[in-house]
Amino acid sequence: MSHAVIFVGENSARAHALTYAKSLNCEKKNSGCAAELAEKKFPAETQKNCGECLSCRVFESGNHPDTFFVKATKQKGIGVEEIREQIVMPMATKPFKYAHKVFIIEDQCTPQAQNALLKTIEEPAPYGVFLFLAQNTHGFLPTILSRCVVKNIKGEFLGDADFLPLAEEIFLALQNADIPQAFALYKKVDAFEKNDLLRFLDTLYVIYGKKIRDEKIFFLDAPKIISDTKKILSQNANTQLALELMFEKLRRNQ
Ligand SMILES: [Zn+2]
Repeated sequence: MSHAVIFVGENSARAHALTYAKSLNCEKKNSGCAAELAEKKFPAETQKNCGECLSCRVFESGNHPDTFFVKATKQKGIGVEEIREQIVMPMATKPFKYAHKVFIIEDQCTPQAQNALLKTIEEPAPYGVFLFLAQNTHGFLPTILSRCVVKNIKGEFLGDADFLPLAEEIFLALQNADIPQAFALYKKVDAFEKNDLLRFLDTLYVIYGKKIRDEKIFFLDAPKIISDTKKILSQNANTQLALELMFEKLRRNQ
C-alpha cells in the first residue's frame, strides 16, 4: 500500500484526495482491519466508501478526528514549523479512533519543510497516510517524489461552455435551497436530449469539483451523486426519475 500520494490536478485533485481519505477510514469498507487494507494495492480514487458509517458521517461534517488538513500560513508555502507541529508530532501518537491518521497537505511545502518531513515519510507509522495536493510535481524534492505515488488527475474536463452558466445557476439554487428556482432549472435540464444531458452532467460535476477545491466546502458526495446519475442515465433509465432523485440528493448534501 502506498501511504504517500500526490494528487496532481487543477480542479478536482482535492475532491479526489478527500474521497480517498474518507474511504481509508470507512468502517464498512475496511471492517476496521487496517492489515487487510495494507494488503491491497493503491486503490482507485473512485474507491467506495459507504457514506453512512460513523467515520464517513463525521468526515462529511468536516470534523473527522483522524483527518488533518495542513495549510500554508505564509506565502512561500508550508514551512518547517508547520510540518513539525502539524505532522511529525501528531504522527507520534496512534489514531484517535480509526485505522488511519490521514494528513491532507493542501499547499506546497518549502524544500526545508520537505526535508523535515522526509524521515516521517520514509519510516511511516503503520497508520500514517500523507496526501499531497499539487498543481504539478515541480515543487517536490526528488527524495519526496520517490516515496510517493503520483496520481495525475489529468485530461481534466473543464466544463462545456454551453452548459456552464446553467450548471452554476443550479449549484446556487440548490445551495440556497431555492426550490422554485431549482425546479425551474430542473425543467430546463429535463428537456435536454440524451447527449446534451450527459454533457451537462459532466459540467455540473466540474462545478462541484471547483467548489470543493476553491471554497473548501464539503460537498463530498456531490461528485458521486452526479456520476451515479450519469451511469444510471447511460443505461436508459427513466430520465425524469433519475434527475429528480439527483436534485433532491444534491440539495440534501449541501
Ligand atoms: Zn463508511
